[in-house]
Amino acid sequence: MCYHVILLVAIIQEDKNNSLEIAYTEIEPNIELIEKLKSLSVYQLQDSESLAIIEKLKTLNNSIIKQNNKFKRYSLKNDVLYYQTNLQEVIYLPKALRQDIINQVHVEMGHQGPYKVIKYVRDRFFWKGLTNDIKNQLRACHLCQLSKKSNITYVGPCKSIITENIGDIVMADLYGPLVSGTFGYTFIFVIQDSFSKFIKLYPLKQSTAKSVVTKVKHFVEIIKPKAIMTDNGKQFVSNHWKQSMSELNIKPIYTTVRNPRPNTTERVNKELSRLFRTLCHTNHKDWALILPKLEELYNNSYHNSTGFTPCEILYGESNEMSFDKVISKSKDKHNVEQIRQQVRKNLKEASRIRNTKFNKRNRLIKYNIGDLVKISRSSRSDADNKVMSKFNLAYEGPYVIAAVPFDNVYTLANPETNEIRGIFNAIHLLKYFK
Ligand SMILES: [Zn+2]
Repeated sequence: MCYHVILLVAIIQEDKNNSLEIAYTEIEPNIELIEKLKSLSVYQLQDSESLAIIEKLKTLNNSIIKQNNKFKRYSLKNDVLYYQTNLQEVIYLPKALRQDIINQVHVEMGHQGPYKVIKYVRDRFFWKGLTNDIKNQLRACHLCQLSKKSNITYVGPCKSIITENIGDIVMADLYGPLVSGTFGYTFIFVIQDSFSKFIKLYPLKQSTAKSVVTKVKHFVEIIKPKAIMTDNGKQFVSNHWKQSMSELNIKPIYTTVRNPRPNTTERVNKELSRLFRTLCHTNHKDWALILPKLEELYNNSYHNSTGFTPCEILYGESNEMSFDKVISKSKDKHNVEQIRQQVRKNLKEASRIRNTKFNKRNRLIKYNIGDLVKISRSSRSDADNKVMSKFNLAYEGPYVIAAVPFDNVYTLANPETNEIRGIFNAIHLLKYFK
């Protein structure tokens, strides 16, 4: 075995300021481990499992061993116990050295996963339960847990908010930055009423708290919200936002606290992207000019979950087509209360179907106080922060569950200092293995 190679392994680390730092760590040969391996036979004699085999080999004669299924693969050479696999003869590794060997192979190979580490170890050593030991040990590697992305989403049971009336909750979100075009607009501030799905699209030059508050004040003229739901963007956690909402008598709520799934305006954003591509593909810079048209289109389109168009729910008026006059179709005026009654039923049913689908797609998880978790870093690209997000560690942690304020929502603390890290939804967390 040759461990006299000094390897350079790039380890991506983050300093306290969250900036990216690539540290070249020299992997020195593990002198202590090398010394231990030189006295393999001593370690084998101290290990109850290998000692039992060695004693048997010494007492039984060769022809009996060869017929014995349990011992025929073992042999002693220079007092060292070997095991014959289907391919080669490898050393029987006593328990005391297993952890060090696994760790050394894993680190020397640049934190490769269990599949490869198993191959390297199996090429040299044997013990019962090798595969599981390696898997269990690597699962607990701190650096790997923070850097390797999981493709499974663990979530808490799905609970959606079902609104009963216009204005119960409105969702607000920022769309952009976009190509700065006509009039220098770069963002769209989207506000949507959860009950009617009615949207307003406000072009913004800046995404500041001040500019979004101005638009909320405009929205209040159309629909008076009781609560406004946003993500944790800096505009929405600012004092200016919280204070202004309190003055408007609107309760600010945040997606991570109550809703396990993305803000529904994010679905609006998808629809917006589609409409932009369809209507604005020839000149991207004209997007601000077509916003009123987009808004009108959206508010007059049937929504799957309500079964009506936002304008029907709000005003009782259905959309007019350009040819309606020709076919003598007069504008329908419905009883708004009847429509809303039906919307309440439709929303409940849509939510039930969505929850069933959601719970089928995702793995449910519930953490208890004291459990260790890691936090998934936001994958949302931040235009203000041009750090190469691909090189950032995928997770942050470990943290300990300090409290469970709501279903699916956990207060996390630093396990050593008990300092509170924040409140997180289950969807952003993964179990951390110690
Ligand atoms: Zn690792």
